[in-house]
Amino acid sequence: MDLSYGPEYQAFRDEVRAFTAKYADRAPRGALGGDMRDWQLLLIEHGYAARTIPKAYGGFGAAPDVLKSRIIAEEFLAAGLPMGMSGQGISMLVPTLLEVGSEEQKRRYIAPTLRGEIIWCQGYSEPGAGSDLAALTTRAIEDGDDFVINGQKIWTSTAAQADMMFCLVRTEPDAPKHEGISYLIFPMTTPGIEVRPLVTMTGRAEFNEVFFTDVRVPKTDVVAGRGQGWMVANATLKHERGMLGDPNQAGTRLKAIVELMQTEDVDGRRLMDNPALRDRLLKLQARVHAMEFHGLRLLTAGLKGEDPGVARLIVKLMGCELNHQLAAFAIDALGELGMLYNNSPHIRNGGNWQWSYMFDLGLIIGGGTAQIQKNIISERGLGMPREPKPAKV
Ligand SMILES: Cc1cc2nc3c(=O)[nH]c(=O)nc-3n(C[C@H](O)[C@H](O)[C@H](O)COP(=O)(O)OP(=O)(O)OC[C@H]3O[C@@H](n4cnc5c(N)ncnc54)[C@H](O)[C@@H]3O)c2cc1C
Repeated sequence: MDLSYGPEYQAFRDEVRAFTAKYADRAPRGALGGDMRDWQLLLIEHGYAARTIPKAYGGFGAAPDVLKSRIIAEEFLAAGLPMGMSGQGISMLVPTLLEVGSEEQKRRYIAPTLRGEIIWCQGYSEPGAGSDLAALTTRAIEDGDDFVINGQKIWTSTAAQADMMFCLVRTEPDAPKHEGISYLIFPMTTPGIEVRPLVTMTGRAEFNEVFFTDVRVPKTDVVAGRGQGWMVANATLKHERGMLGDPNQAGTRLKAIVELMQTEDVDGRRLMDNPALRDRLLKLQARVHAMEFHGLRLLTAGLKGEDPGVARLIVKLMGCELNHQLAAFAIDALGELGMLYNNSPHIRNGGNWQWSYMFDLGLIIGGGTAQIQKNIISERGLGMPREPKPAKV
């Protein structure tokens, strides 16, 4: 099996490598790094971010080429450089608008989102609607030219910092539950929106409750038409699940762990010289490689223009769990030092391993829990019997 990309892509790889060498000092890394928005603009200008998004919407306008995208990711990873801005706007809302948004919505929102000028949050989950998202009850009633929203969202990441929300609301209360939903976009400064931060075990408020009281949103700010929200939500979720559990992240993390084990001593012994730790490291390394090869399988499907189907969900399911286990391993390897958190003078790597361990547990749940991914993979991918639905009373 030949896993090389062939000579025609070598020139492109050289080009990317030259860019990473030339501009590395402008990347936002630690205290000495540059600004993330400036970095994002530089990447768009050279075609390393928003690469295939049309120029008319603020992208670079290149033709899709999965191998070139892969080479960019590989070279940035090798150079230890960030791939630009991400987040729910760029990774989820932009591809959704490109797929099903109106021309006006594309022109208005995509370019400033790519430039990091509009930060978005995702208003899907509610206290009674998480895995069973279609059970959502936040209502939007038509009134003149507006919808008037009342209800509550929960677990809304970055709602306290966001400028805009993409939000699922029930516009047709009498329709079957999947058909009565619409997808609205609106500013977080709209009167009647209250954001209450929720502090997680990391000690930071990573997500929020959001309450709506008579929030007026123009009817023109519905995406893909009234009652089409379930279809739009699924378009967004496809991108969310694709972004979570990225095999590149596991590769970066493994590389950092190897460095940690080569440089750090605990109880007078280099971590890499501890056979029990080396044994665990090798097992994790095998899983990281398995994920990388799974990534190549998806790449091949992309090259052939095939839909990889549920194989994509394996990235979310296995990748998020693997990232969590890698962080757990780093903490265990550090022994007593791994127990430190928050402002300890002895903390390693700014406490990132500890933070990742706690935060990544949430990523196994967010975007659809591991159990839900397993249900979908088994039913749609392996043809196993569908889970029984509760009897109606
Ligand atoms: C870090 C993080 C960030 C998030 N960010 C956002 C956000 O920005 N916007 C947003 O809208 N939401 C967000 N969420 C919410 C997330 O989408 C939900 O938590 C998730 O969909 C699960 O819903 P739930 O919490 O209501 O759990 P529930 O659906 O109540 O599930 C509880 C448990 O039951 C299991 N379960 C449920 N149904 C089944 C079934 N049919 N078969 C087997 N097991 C089942 C689940 O796997 C889980 O273990 C975020 C969550 C986290 C953790």
